[in-house]
Amino acid sequence: MKALTYQGKRNVKVKNVPDARLETKDDILVKVTSTAICGSDLHLFNGEIPRMRDDYIIGHEPMGIVEDVGPAVTKVKKGDRVIIPFNVACGQCFFCQNHMESQCDHANETKDTGGYLGYSDSYGGFAGGQAELLRVPYGNFMPFKVPEDAEMEDEKLLFLSDIVPTAWWGVESAGVQKGDTVIVLGCGPVGLLTQKFAWMKGASRVIAVDHIPYRLQHAERTNKVEVFNFEERDNFEGNMKEITRGGADVVIDCVGLDAKKNLLEKVGTALMLQGGSLGAFEIASKVVRKFGTIQLVGVYGLRYNMFPLGHLFERNITLKMGQAPVIHYMPELYQMMKEGKFDPTDIITHRLPLEQAEHGYDIFDNKKENCIKVILKP
Ligand code: NAD
Ligand code: ZN
Repeated sequence: MKALTYQGKRNVKVKNVPDARLETKDDILVKVTSTAICGSDLHLFNGEIPRMRDDYIIGHEPMGIVEDVGPAVTKVKKGDRVIIPFNVACGQCFFCQNHMESQCDHANETKDTGGYLGYSDSYGGFAGGQAELLRVPYGNFMPFKVPEDAEMEDEKLLFLSDIVPTAWWGVESAGVQKGDTVIVLGCGPVGLLTQKFAWMKGASRVIAVDHIPYRLQHAERTNKVEVFNFEERDNFEGNMKEITRGGADVVIDCVGLDAKKNLLEKVGTALMLQGGSLGAFEIASKVVRKFGTIQLVGVYGLRYNMFPLGHLFERNITLKMGQAPVIHYMPELYQMMKEGKFDPTDIITHRLPLEQAEHGYDIFDNKKENCIKVILKP
């Protein structure tokens, strides 16, 4: 089968690799019809997540048709249309049973965190979904079976695998309430969906921050948010505080580590935080109001030195973070989408055959061709 494989830092290749196959009695095998490249894949691509190996298959936002199932699988059968969540989760442990599927006790044997599809040996070592075929473990829990009468095309459904429930979890976890002023850092796919959901939760102001003009324009046009380019404004933080009268009720960081922006390799983490470079978390900690909440949705993979604990403590800030538990949100968000409450497809800018995945990584990582979200079609 063809698959997008890791070949060292900033080097991915579509290669012919051995077919994925069933490995345990409750696995399912999926013929992938659509799969997306995520901002999280860029952390792998840029070498920010340890324990990647050559030929490792990336990808955690897939959907497709069930090709085969293990003898213990009863939830789905050959021919079913399924969306596969990025959380690898058994469905049985304390965490899975209590809506914390992103920290399943059985998905990562190497350390006490969850496991994720296509996200390196640090997180379970599962082969990913940017491929023609995908082995999915825990076939009685993980797949979301698309109802047979669903008329929705892949493009709408696909993002239930990750970024739709992730963004929804972000605003819920942050406790966004009616009347809140919400600052969303980042106008990538996750930030753009977070902006939509902040409005749906009743925010009275949603302010979007980025430094890429076409992405800010997209946010302004499609989500009707106020936009700020943090590089263009003098005294960006002062401005934010002034317009929000002392800071936002909630700041949602949809950036995480940005290898390009924060120049980690060149200057080192400590210097970056002392100097003028505005890492997203640093911005968040400065533009949140006293007693406000910072929600980290963006992924932080490396040790973050000079963490401003004292600054957060003395201003009574609540800080929440982590990989989103997406599985239990899938039915509810499917229903909302079916009822037309939101439509995530306006973030899609590129549809490419799997063979052109390398190009997809290039334009998404380097923010070329006005790229926002790339869908791959195996
Ligand atoms: P993306 O790279 O397309 O978007 C990130 C955006 O942030 C870019 O537009 C970039 O210009 C902007 N940015 C960079 N530095 C900034 C700063 N200091 N302030 C404001 N904006 C800044 O990626 P994406 O697909 O939208 O994903 C965003 C983040 O969400 C990534 O870190 C990804 O790993 C993470 N993510 C987390 C989860 C989860 O479960 N927690 C799930 C999916 C994605
Ligand atoms: Zn993702």
